[in-house]
Amino acid sequence: MTHRYDQLWLNANLFTIDCNSAATVMPDACLAVTGDRITLICPMRQLSAAPEQLAASVHDARGGWVTPGLIDCHTHVVYAGDRSMEYRQRLQGKSYAAIAEQGGGIQATVRATRQASEEQLLRASIPRVRAMLAQGVTTLEIKSGYGLDLAAERKILRVARQLAEVLPVRVVTTFLGAHVTPPAYRTTPEAYVDLLCQEMLPQLAEERLVDAVDVFCDDIAFSIAQTERIFQTAKALSLPIKCHAEQLSHQGAASLAARYHALSCDHLEYARQADVTAMAQQHCVAVLLPGAYYFLQAGQKPPLALLRQYRVPMALATDCNPGTSPTTSLLLMTHLAQHLWGMSTDEVLLGVTRHAASALGMADSIGSLQEGHIADFVIWQIEHLAQLSYYFGYIPPHQTIKGGVPQQEASHEQSQ
Ligand SMILES: [Zn+2]
Repeated sequence: MTHRYDQLWLNANLFTIDCNSAATVMPDACLAVTGDRITLICPMRQLSAAPEQLAASVHDARGGWVTPGLIDCHTHVVYAGDRSMEYRQRLQGKSYAAIAEQGGGIQATVRATRQASEEQLLRASIPRVRAMLAQGVTTLEIKSGYGLDLAAERKILRVARQLAEVLPVRVVTTFLGAHVTPPAYRTTPEAYVDLLCQEMLPQLAEERLVDAVDVFCDDIAFSIAQTERIFQTAKALSLPIKCHAEQLSHQGAASLAARYHALSCDHLEYARQADVTAMAQQHCVAVLLPGAYYFLQAGQKPPLALLRQYRVPMALATDCNPGTSPTTSLLLMTHLAQHLWGMSTDEVLLGVTRHAASALGMADSIGSLQEGHIADFVIWQIEHLAQLSYYFGYIPPHQTIKGGVPQQEASHEQSQ
């Protein structure tokens, strides 16, 4: 007997979007998968025949909730070394500058990452990515930026690609050679930008290790002029761009990035109205990073009211990194954004699904439950979607399905 669908999930409440990309819910619904695609979404009462006649394999979601697979669209998860001792020093009152002067800070991570073999770097990264997947993440962006020379940046990007081979996760790589200027170029930063534009980026793009290009534009990182040079190189290589923009001070980087049709501008604490309108015009996503805001005790909040007013899509991500956001929990980020910034449940859920997909240029294939999309979704045995951002610890998915393939089911029911 041939079936119309490979798999069918019954009795689910689906987190979907309407024709305006606003969050909505389809209660008491079913979802079918054929191959790696979602091929049917409809209310249970509209099923055209008995489930067993329609699908080779039938699952009962037992009234659980289904969201798209979560998307962590901004991470630095591939790194070596540990900086927890620095955190302790900071708590004891030592300044970040003093720690950096003693060889700590980002340069400590660069040293450790350069020293690690590819194998060691992969082994260090796997547990962090596993922790992300355990919360329902199915797609992950990974930035380089702790290598700062060709060989070490290549190593990070190769490990990012390998993670997608050894774990059930879709990985999008971003070249962030312009994270900070390496110590050897401290007095000649332009020479590093030359190296980056003329050798590192073209070579790594040639090796197909780069899906997008990012620049950290700030007083402590790269100037507007340097940022623009790197954007021009990315454009010449037909690579989409992203930008660490307006995090610690206002530089005008978000407006610049929008002019270059950036997929996203990230952080944005110091973004102004002109930046937000430029982003709105170019459909640029605002990737907000509450983990870094919290860990740095930043004080300055991103301009939520302006972003809402001009309808800039807001995504949320962990920014997982050892210096400013040591977390792997995307659900914790939804809680922080809600609790610290007043984002709504719908906003934070769209932020880790639909809008996170847009920040990666993938909204036509992942990030929402739609027929024709890749079958990445998560089943949660919860009473209501609001529970996902209510807990600020671990809330386990009942099951994650990636590309139509069910991953291991949770071994026990969630206790409350
Ligand atoms: Zn970052």
